[in-house]
Parts: sequence; structure tokens; C-alpha cells
Amino acid sequence: MSQATTHIVVVGGGTAGWMAAAALSRVLGQRATVRLVESEDIGTVGVGEATVPHIKAFNQMLGLNEADFVARTQGTFKLGIQFRDWGKPGDSYMHGFGVIGHDVGMTPFHQYWLKGRMAGHAGDLLDYSVNTVAAVRGRFLPAPVDVPASNPLAGIGYAYHFDAALYARYLRAYSEARGVRRTEGKVRHVDLHPESGHVSAVVLESGERIYGDLFIDCSGFRGLLIEDALHTGYEDWTHWLPCDRALAVPCERVETPTPYTRSTARPAGWQWRIPLQHRTGNGYVYASQYLGDDEAAACLLANLDGTPLGDPRPLRFTTGMRTKSWNRNVVALGLASGFMEPLESTSIHMIQSGISRLLQLFPSNGVMDPVLQDRFNAQTRFECERIRDFLVLHYTATKRDDSPFWNHCRTMPIPESLQANIDLFRHSGRFFRHADEMFGSVSWVQVMIGQGIVPRGYDPLVDLMPDADLPRFLHGVREVVSKNVDLMPTHQQFIDRECRAD
Ligand code: FAD
Repeated sequence: MSQATTHIVVVGGGTAGWMAAAALSRVLGQRATVRLVESEDIGTVGVGEATVPHIKAFNQMLGLNEADFVARTQGTFKLGIQFRDWGKPGDSYMHGFGVIGHDVGMTPFHQYWLKGRMAGHAGDLLDYSVNTVAAVRGRFLPAPVDVPASNPLAGIGYAYHFDAALYARYLRAYSEARGVRRTEGKVRHVDLHPESGHVSAVVLESGERIYGDLFIDCSGFRGLLIEDALHTGYEDWTHWLPCDRALAVPCERVETPTPYTRSTARPAGWQWRIPLQHRTGNGYVYASQYLGDDEAAACLLANLDGTPLGDPRPLRFTTGMRTKSWNRNVVALGLASGFMEPLESTSIHMIQSGISRLLQLFPSNGVMDPVLQDRFNAQTRFECERIRDFLVLHYTATKRDDSPFWNHCRTMPIPESLQANIDLFRHSGRFFRHADEMFGSVSWVQVMIGQGIVPRGYDPLVDLMPDADLPRFLHGVREVVSKNVDLMPTHQQFIDRECRAD
């Protein structure tokens, strides 16, 4: 039986709207028409510059050329995130992407490191991570295609920093070339079908009515369709993640870009630093309950590397998730579906995974079946809750007692699921990734160790390696990592050679 064409209307032209339009037009081809409405008057959030490695798969699915994409978005490469002052003032650790050392059979490398550390012959865990060693030495190289799996270069993982507005512009050109029709205009009303309660059309200020079978709400925090029209509801997680405001300000670039994002803990939140080719993005994420806006601005401006390129831009948010991201014939993506602070750069990833879930559960002939919606919503909830736990870990695992904010974070009740992960890790350094949750063992281990959660024991399978071999094994891994990183070009050399913006 032939499929009817599904008419899709995307409301919003920020990162979420254009990512959705690009992917839907690419994958669905003739099965769908895609129309996107955006309002230049309202504009976009415009921040969102750091990503996680999964975005490479999204860009590859679209068929984008990496060098062209990086050059056109003023992008740089990201090997991980450096966390400063999180465990306690003066501390620093890296959450690097990619692998650490190499696992032996089923036993992860960090278990050997734990035993070695207890015996006094292991260095810092991150000395065994090619990502972290390269990041701190300012070097970058993607994994060469022909490198054997045993070489640490094979385990490099990376993402990008980019100018989000340029990325949206890039995807707009891509989408329009594939038939997406863009309409500039403000939605002033949403028509609901009197019986089903489904959205039948959005009505623009011009009076134009845009009809559709499926509506993608990418209208930002407000959730024009999912909330204003359908009153879906929102689950507030502020009691676990108390930051609710941010100030964002770019500054001029003063040094070669680091191949990592920096997150520095501050008295009532944390500050980000994201190096691009043409400027550096900065922002202070803070809890308004503990800090005034003027004090936050003063703290941010006092801690920039270069001259600010404008006044700090205020943003307000409520951390949490929409109770259903797919309600009736509306699927919310991006900020319309919920928000968690950009501590681990997860928002753009969640747009990507929402798009991929929608495509996997795409309704045939435009028929909205609750079976598809329930699965979509359950998967979305699972993803959000696991990411939430990972973010809360950064706040709860601290020894900081230098401000009311940190005293609250250190002592607040945490989700049971997170407590279970911490307890297991403390017991013997073990971690289990559930189903397809976003962050795996290597991420959790780095943050737990980095913030001072010390396991009491290690996996006994490690004892299968003779004690005399362990120091040699650890030393060998460290040497190989270090020597391979020395062969890499610097981050700036790589950009100049492969993807320099004009
Ligand atoms: P928006 O950018 O708000 O776009 C909304 C769109 O809807 C706009 O085009 C607007 O014009 C349109 N619209 C709204 N109302 C109407 C209307 N009535 N009629 C017509 N059009 C309308 N994510 C990361 O992955 N990494 C980061 O480092 C990161 N940092 C962040 C820092 C902060 C402080 C914040 C707040 C967010 C950050 N994010 C980050 C999240 C990221 O910015 C968003 O996920 C991303 O920009 C997607 O936004 P959006 O497209 O959902 O919404």
C-alpha cells in the first residue's frame, strides 16, 4: 500500500527547528512536506556552542562535510570538559571523551588503575586518557582510519564548539535546498480540532493559516504548541539542580583555542568558557536564590580572558522536562521539551536524539497512534532522568563549604537512582550503563574520581593479572599515550590545515 504524504509544520527556527527540518527533509524525502515558521522579531536563544561526540553522527547522516561545517560555523574541536574548583577550590580534572587506557577482556581499565593506585604505583587516572593528555597539551587529531584498535589513537573521541547561529544558518540553506519551505512570521493563534483536540493549524499575525498533520514545537522555552495550546505540563527539577539563570557574553579571542570547554565553579553556580575561531563564548549559570543579577554580572566580567564584545545577556529557565514531549499530534524538541543547564553540553544532543526517536517511531500515513507516542515519551523520560542524575553528581559530590549555595548542593537529597550509582562505585569502582543511556562508564568514572569519590575496593577479576605485571602494564599504557600525543599537531595547526574559517 502506498504511503500518503505527511504534512509537517515546524514552529521555530532556532537550533532545534533547523536540525529537525534538515533531518526530516533528508530522511523522509517524498513521504513528507516540511514547512518551517520562524519569527525574526522574537529571535532565538542564540547560545549553545558546545556539543558532545554524538553530533558527528547527525552531521554524517545529513552528509555534511566536516571541514566545511567547522569552517562555516567558526568551529573548533572539543576533546572534553575541564572542571575547575568543583570538588573543592583549587581542584581540576577533565571529563575527556573517548576511552581511558585499554580494557582487559571484560574488565575496564580503571579497575587496574584502582588496584595500582592502592599499591602506590599508578599516576593520575587521566594520564592514561589520550583525550585528556592531548587536551591539556593543546593537541588535536581525529582517530586515523587505518590505526589498529590496540593503538590509543583509535580511542579518541571528539565533538565541536561552534557558533550556534551559524549552524542554524548552515542547516537552513541545507533544508531549503531539499524543499523545506520557510515562512517568516509570528504565530498568534493555534487552532485545535474540536473533537480530537489535535492541532489543526497555526495562524500567523498576517492571518495566514498553516495546516499540518504533525507539528514539531521548536518554539523555545515557552512551548507555544505543547504548553500554551495543549497544556501538557512540566516537571520541575529545581530542587536537584537549583541554577535558574544565566548571563552570556562573548569576548575577543586572546589565545589559540583550547581543544576543550572549561567549567569553573563559582560561589553560586559555574562559569563556562567555549573557544571558537573568532571569539570566546562565556557565561555564568547561577541560582537566583543565592546570587543577585548584578553580582553575577560583576563576577562574570571580572573573570573573562579578553575584552567583552557586548553586555551580558540574561536568560532565565526552569530546569526540568515536559511531562510528555509527544502529545496528540505535537512533538516538542529543544527548549520547548525541557531544559537542563549546559554543564555537560547535553541540550543539542537531546534535540538530535528526539529527532532520531521520532524518525524511528514515525507515524505511517500521519496517523497518531498512542503506542508510538507512549514509547517516544518513555524513552525521552529515561534519557532525561539519566542525564539529570549525571548533572546532579557534579553538585552533590563536592567538599565545598564556602557558600550557602554549595552547602545546599552538598547536603541536598538526591535521586535514588543516582545514590545507587554512587554507592556501587564507592564499594568497588563499578558502574553499569543502563540500556542506551547517554553517558557511559568512562564519563561517570572520570567525574566520580575527579570529584573525590574514592572506591574502597576494586573488581577482583583484576587479580587474574599477576601482581608483578601490573606496574609494567600501567606504565606501558601511560608511555604509549604520551608518545602518541606528541605526534599530534597542535589544535591550531590542525584547524589551519583542515578547516580554517575565512
Ligand atoms: P530557540 O533558540 O529559543 O528558538 C525558538 C524559535 O522559535 C525561534 O526561531 C523563535 O523565533 C521561534 N518562535 C518563538 N515563538 C514564536 C512565535 N510566536 N511565532 C513564530 N516563531 C516563534 N546546548 C548545548 O548543546 N550546548 C551548550 O553549550 C548550550 N549552552 C546553553 C547555555 C544557556 C545559558 C542556555 C539557556 C542554553 C544552552 N544550550 C546549550 C541549549 C541550546 O541553546 C538550545 O538547546 C538550542 O539553542 C535550541 O534552542 P531552541 O531551538 O529549542 O529554541
